[in-house]
Amino acid sequence: MRVTPAASRALRHGHPWLFEGAITKQSFAGVAGDLAVIFDKKRCFLAIGLYDPDSPIRVRILHAGKPVLINRQWFQDKIATASAVRCPLRTQPVSRRTTGCRLIHGENDGLPGLILDRYENTLVLKLYTPAWVPHLHDILPALPAADRVILRLSRALTSKPERLYGLEEGMIVSGSALDGHVMFWENGLRFEAEPILGHKTGFYFDQRDNRARVEKLAGGKDVLNVFSYTGGFSVYAARGGARRVMSVDTSAAALAVATRNWNHNQQVPAVANSVHTTLAADAFETLARMAEQGRHFDMVILDPPAFAHKRKHLAKALSAYRRLAVLGINVLRKGGTLVQASCSSRVSADDFFDQINRGATEAGRSLVEIERTGHAVDHPISYPEGAYLKCLFAKVL
Ligand code: SAH
Repeated sequence: MRVTPAASRALRHGHPWLFEGAITKQSFAGVAGDLAVIFDKKRCFLAIGLYDPDSPIRVRILHAGKPVLINRQWFQDKIATASAVRCPLRTQPVSRRTTGCRLIHGENDGLPGLILDRYENTLVLKLYTPAWVPHLHDILPALPAADRVILRLSRALTSKPERLYGLEEGMIVSGSALDGHVMFWENGLRFEAEPILGHKTGFYFDQRDNRARVEKLAGGKDVLNVFSYTGGFSVYAARGGARRVMSVDTSAAALAVATRNWNHNQQVPAVANSVHTTLAADAFETLARMAEQGRHFDMVILDPPAFAHKRKHLAKALSAYRRLAVLGINVLRKGGTLVQASCSSRVSADDFFDQINRGATEAGRSLVEIERTGHAVDHPISYPEGAYLKCLFAKVL
């Protein structure tokens, strides 16, 4: 196929997506998973990628530059390169042992629309486009050794069963069956996750480094972890010496796992000495009610789901982040620590941090930034949209 000059430039610069509107000529109508070869206006090879006729991202680029053969060996090399990036996680001391991490981060590791997470001996492969389905026979043998590989499918796939050729969401595509949950280590803490039923592939590995930062700041504090999911931040806060931790989430099922994760770490004296409570409730209503009741904390963690999935939701998302900042700050004692994150890739870091600062002004408090952070090492960023996670650590006076 041939593409617009702007798209040619973007592909040359390594952008992983070719949008449907940028295609100027296509030799034939392909099917999902076909390898699309893209030429520039001088008919020279530009890039090769996976074709998806049902997605506005019509081609997900596997390779740009000189022509290459895309085969099992090529996938194996890509997976090995991605694995090398994660070396720091494998060489940690026993006290910071980490056996759960992301091995392939889609576009950012050159395999667009494909995620691979490891939970000790279980791999979870998540696909975001049916274009990967015809290539699974090359991908599966190229994956690292494990007891089993679980397949997770995004809505783009589950809504098109005819493209799945018998594959199903949550099925084991190789290895033994899984009885219930998986157990793994993260920075020397023990966690369980539900890779078949859980969010993403079961755990938010992208927040690992931010959890470790919370641990460092939590000593002696009364901590409120809002949007806690399965309690990752809560357990780290406890190991960091938090006196009390309250986990708030609308999902009672996630909170039940949070309680179990807390219990899995009772061998850590600081966790055993800390007190954990959970509350299944809406974050916004809970924070507002706590402020009315004069309930205050020394640290408030706000890690909501993405507020902006589409560009048209951007303005609303920004104001929701500001409102959340105000609500969080209203339950913080003077000198308390605010930890607020956004995982909306459409919200820029500058806009997000700006909203929190405005929220502080609105709440009549001043905010001293400690650190602005992003992704953990197993979530590399190789294109602008890949930088989705932003997190602010600040002292609120
Ligand atoms: N901080 C977590 C990840 C949070 S994911 C971690 O480190 O693992 C977002 C969580 O927000 C989900 O568990 C979801 O159930 C919860 N959630 C979504 N909307 C909510 C709301 N209005 N009030 C409270 N929790 C909410």
